[in-house]
Amino acid sequence: MPSWEQAVSGLLRALRLDSIRSKMLVFALLATLIPSVTTGWISYLQNERSLTAKITGELQSVSAQTAREIDLWVKERLYELRVFASSYEVSENLDRIRHAGGERAHERLTGYLRSVRERFADYQELLVVNPEGEELASTAPQPTAVELPPGWTTTIRADNAVVGDASWDAEHMKSVVVFAVPIYQTGGRLLGALTAKLDLGALHRLLRRFAGGGAQEGQVYLIAADGHAIVGSRSAPAELMRRTLDTAAVRGLLEREGATREYRGLEGQEVVGAVKRVPRPDWAVLAEVPAAEAYRQVTRLRNVTAVIVAALLVAVGLFAYFLGLLITRPLDRLTGAATKVAGGDLAVHLPVVGGGELGYVTEVFNDMVARLHESRKELERLSVTDDLTGLYNRRYLMDAVANEVRRSRRLDHPCTLLMADVDHFKEYNDDYGHLAGDEALRRIAGILRETTRDVDCAARYGGEEFVVLLPETRAAGAIETAQRFRTRLATDELVGGKLSVSIGVAQFPEDGDAPDALLARADAALYRAKREGRDRVLRAPPPSLPPPASA
Ligand code: GH3
Ligand code: MG
Ligand code: MG
Repeated sequence: MPSWEQAVSGLLRALRLDSIRSKMLVFALLATLIPSVTTGWISYLQNERSLTAKITGELQSVSAQTAREIDLWVKERLYELRVFASSYEVSENLDRIRHAGGERAHERLTGYLRSVRERFADYQELLVVNPEGEELASTAPQPTAVELPPGWTTTIRADNAVVGDASWDAEHMKSVVVFAVPIYQTGGRLLGALTAKLDLGALHRLLRRFAGGGAQEGQVYLIAADGHAIVGSRSAPAELMRRTLDTAAVRGLLEREGATREYRGLEGQEVVGAVKRVPRPDWAVLAEVPAAEAYRQVTRLRNVTAVIVAALLVAVGLFAYFLGLLITRPLDRLTGAATKVAGGDLAVHLPVVGGGELGYVTEVFNDMVARLHESRKELERLSVTDDLTGLYNRRYLMDAVANEVRRSRRLDHPCTLLMADVDHFKEYNDDYGHLAGDEALRRIAGILRETTRDVDCAARYGGEEFVVLLPETRAAGAIETAQRFRTRLATDELVGGKLSVSIGVAQFPEDGDAPDALLARADAALYRAKREGRDRVLRAPPPSLPPPASA
């Protein structure tokens, strides 16, 4: 056996995979598992990548569009405010408030503010403050304190506008943001600021519009750069404003604007989101979808792949198992049959199921066993047959006599022995030659076979001596058979008139109740027949009689 074959066989034995069935099972399972898992994994990765790209695209588009709209909204509001602030009504009356008749100017300024407020729904409150931040006129009956960021006068001169932080207006139950634009006198002196408290409900509606399209279950938020939520597409505003995003998440999102990132969202669940900054206020638009929702397709694909692979494994495993059975069953039969043959049982014939190598091996096996069977039968036949005459040999006769005596004794039945010796055969040999003698012996054996029954056992006892065992036969019947044999011999073409036989008869149990005794008695009878002139049949004298006096 080559060394690689030994190594592999050793390994398989160590893994307890010696049987063909388990080898086939393992091979089939591996052959299914490796390609299907590889393909499944590759398609899973590809799907995940394409889905991530799709989600990123959607989130990017939603956040960018929303940010643009919000930017536009901010610019429009500031533009409107500047238009209002530059009105003659504002600067003129503001200037007069501090002088005599200020009451009237105040009234007119308030009236102007109210008229603007009524026409523009987004303005929660409009008020005018002096450079020190003191309120001079307001649309609200009970003006609320409006806080402008510290150092706002510098900012307002530089940027021509101030945008405050978003806050919760507890009185009106609204989220608001404060915008302020400068009011200048004709000479360029800063008189104060036109300040507007803007209802962020408008932005809420805007966000909702964008959240509706694109990613399902998606949310869009407007957040401050520190992570504070300002307004959301779906959440209740009061609740939302108290929430803050994790700083690490915000930093991560802002660092890579437009890129998607997974984090714990404002609602507390895992989400995938992307941000887009709004340039003017320090705001950012955050578009997000729940992570579970985003990757649902991928998860489903993974589960479906797993189920398909599992089903494939079961199907292939069963198939391999039955294929293994198909192969190993004939092998098992062969092994069983070989064991039987080794144990000496040659009466084995295997069914040849199907064709192929195993069918061929089974056929060869059957053929081999059949030949072996025949050879053994031939050997057995040879071992009990006399070469020259084809009669039973002496060994077989002795066994047969022993068995028949036992049987007859048990059943209390008779049986008889004939012992025949050719007369003057030596002379025949001398006259015709040894080969002719052989031929004569063969002919005599043939006549003996013809004149006895199938149940009788005719054997060549020695050179030209024959013994016949006649079961269930008394001496009278045996003598009859012996006479028939003598007569047939006398009329035979070849040996008739040239050869005769002398025959001694002994009956069980009268003449002898054991094989040796019986043979000795038949021999004695034969001896007497010879002595009395040959060519005759004589029964042994009863054993009780004294031996005849020697002549
Ligand atoms: P009888 O028995 O009548 O007393 O005389 P016989 O001449 O037959 O004497 P015996 O039984 O002593 O001699 C047997 C002879 O048979 C001797 C031997 O040459 C011959 N013989 C024995 N076996 C064979 C054999 O196989 N072939 C041949 N051709 N002759 C055999
Ligand atoms: Mg003899
Ligand atoms: Mg003789």
